[in-house]
Amino acid sequence: MKLAEKTNLLSMDRPGLIDFFACLDEKPYRAAQIMKWIYHRGISDFEQMTDLSMDLRARLQALAFIQAPEVVSEHVSVDGTRKWIIRVAGDNCVETVLIPERGRNTLCISSQVGCILNCSFCATGKQGFDGNLASAEIIGQVWLATQRMRSLGLAKGVTNVVFMGMGEPLLNFDAVMCASSVLMDDLGFGLSKRKVTVSTAGVVPGIMRMMGTTDCSLAISLHAPTDDVRNQLVPLNKKYPISELLEACSAYLSTLGERRHVTIEYTMIKGINDHIDQARALARLLRDLSCKINLIPFNSFRASGYEAPDVQTIDAFQTYLIHAGYATMLRTTRGDDIAAACGQLAGQVRDRTRRQEKYLARVRAMELAV
Ligand code: SAH
Repeated sequence: MKLAEKTNLLSMDRPGLIDFFACLDEKPYRAAQIMKWIYHRGISDFEQMTDLSMDLRARLQALAFIQAPEVVSEHVSVDGTRKWIIRVAGDNCVETVLIPERGRNTLCISSQVGCILNCSFCATGKQGFDGNLASAEIIGQVWLATQRMRSLGLAKGVTNVVFMGMGEPLLNFDAVMCASSVLMDDLGFGLSKRKVTVSTAGVVPGIMRMMGTTDCSLAISLHAPTDDVRNQLVPLNKKYPISELLEACSAYLSTLGERRHVTIEYTMIKGINDHIDQARALARLLRDLSCKINLIPFNSFRASGYEAPDVQTIDAFQTYLIHAGYATMLRTTRGDDIAAACGQLAGQVRDRTRRQEKYLARVRAMELAV
């Protein structure tokens, strides 16, 4: 490792920090010491790290820093959901959402600035794309949320982390794996492997790379039981069709051992994927996969062109799946009033594609037409 520039220690997991200290001729246990300061005690000032010698503190001051990204604003929903707008490199903003529920606090974090995949029903895709978040910017979201929760007196802290914010985590593989490693490390956030979930739109090579790299939980944004419908919703499906995707899921699960499952995310959209025949097809499709199903009623955003199904349709779909033997949860919409619900995260992206421009032109045209 070259120590040319000052290093943000939030960018490294435990093996990375061990290497870092090796470059300073320091023993591996220094990594453990510093992680405890950063993650257990929330300290970012080397001066306060009193079990490090004065000399080491001075050297760290010269070579490194500990810095989470800046919080631009905080929005609190009537239902208690909190959204933070966070400034990241390139003068972009991404969003992080905290969803407090009975007994747990789930943090939904972003992995990219915008998203390249352009799923037709997702607001993030409409913003276009401006690259990956750095690992410090990913871990920094959890660090910030933890600090803020401490200051609010929410003793429990973050109990679950889902990579379901902006971006496709498996297209920012190394940074996401580094962040997951800190999340699951006892010296980091100490979350169990069941409580850290990477959610993917179906990046099959990424799922294959997870094998042997991590044992965190996996969620698949499936949204349709057939390729023709999924192609319309998730364009990536044309590259990695459903059969390949489900094979990759089974392969990953087989590396995890007993009693693990994949979460199947299914955003329900009126007239597109909500027919009872599609529930039947879904039940057949998932027969051999150990999975749980999350139904998410479509959350709308400007000019999306889609609607959520009515309550009876959703209920019939869920009931069918439950009777077919699947644990099927209906995810209640949270944080809709602060645009923090699934698929509503838009941030502020300096778009490198021309997608944002096209989308805004469509919004203007539709709004003029009304
Ligand atoms: N790229 C990753 C993670 C981000 S999306 C993935 O696709 O899994 C997080 C979840 O919200 C996904 O299941 C996504 O399909 C869903 N989602 C996106 N837009 C939505 C919308 N408008 N309403 C409801 N769910 C949506």
